[in-house]
Amino acid sequence: MPRIPLAAAVLAVPLLGVASFAAWSGPAPRPAGSAAPERLAPVLAVPVTVDTLFLGGYARGSFAEAVRELSSDLSEAERAMIGRHLDKIFLPVVPAEGMGTGGRLRVAYERVARPDGSTRSIRVLAAEAAVGGTLHTAFFHEGAAAAGYFDALGRSLDPAAWAQPLEVARVTSPFRMDRLHPILRRVLPHTGVDFAAVYGTPVRATGDGSVAFAGERGGYGNLVEIQHPNGYTTRYAHLSRIAVGRDQGVSQGDVIGYVGATGLATGPHLHYEVRRRGQPVDPLAVSAGDGPARDLGYDPAWRAERRELGRLLARAPTLLSRRRP
Ligand SMILES: [Zn+2]
Repeated sequence: MPRIPLAAAVLAVPLLGVASFAAWSGPAPRPAGSAAPERLAPVLAVPVTVDTLFLGGYARGSFAEAVRELSSDLSEAERAMIGRHLDKIFLPVVPAEGMGTGGRLRVAYERVARPDGSTRSIRVLAAEAAVGGTLHTAFFHEGAAAAGYFDALGRSLDPAAWAQPLEVARVTSPFRMDRLHPILRRVLPHTGVDFAAVYGTPVRATGDGSVAFAGERGGYGNLVEIQHPNGYTTRYAHLSRIAVGRDQGVSQGDVIGYVGATGLATGPHLHYEVRRRGQPVDPLAVSAGDGPARDLGYDPAWRAERRELGRLLARAPTLLSRRRP
């Protein structure tokens, strides 16, 4: 997902390579009393305006068609942007036909407009689609690790949002049920994936959850186990050092320990496991359809944020029919 600095009311762009911007932004202001007026300013400040807009009502067809129907006063470019954003946000949960034969749509979004009034970008803050007897809600949330859309219960709308435990991940031993163990010299299932990594490399939580185990456990050496909200657990083994404590809430991307060679390990590497209701599954195959890795039920700030976005969404029109003749 592109990270757009929408919060900034003034966009500062580097002067080099943006000569065409000067046509609509005017010359760079010169500081008063400057001794060297011929020297170019290092940055060119381009004022943009950010406002929040609402649209809503009864609509049919794809999201693009629904938005077009509900917002005749917006530019074609802006309506297309909103339609594309809604397609992306609701892709995993709403059928491909969007609003289909008809339903209620409400959207609150932020718009960044250029000095000439044209739309530079938009970001949907909250959206609600009542379609096929189901109410789908999406709230934007920007966390420490990543930004995305979450439903009313705080579950990520993107089921494929599992992360990797290491920034650079090279698999040295895949998940398989009939591996000859390198130390024990007998056939034992390898219930996880081994990643090559140098000693001390930070290991990150691959999804939101809480620490179910942090300590030494047999061949695993120093082990961290995280319980995730969707019935999944993940294990991070052979750590040289553990950076979390039992019952601690962790967000995706948080450092939970460091690569080591504790337990049954021939050298420093990370052994990473994913279990679905206790049964080991291939970590490299966990993706869409396996439930969200992000769940803000663990985030205390989420409830307040969701209430705020809910209030915002309530300002969108709810007319049952706003069809043009
Ligand atoms: Zn392993």
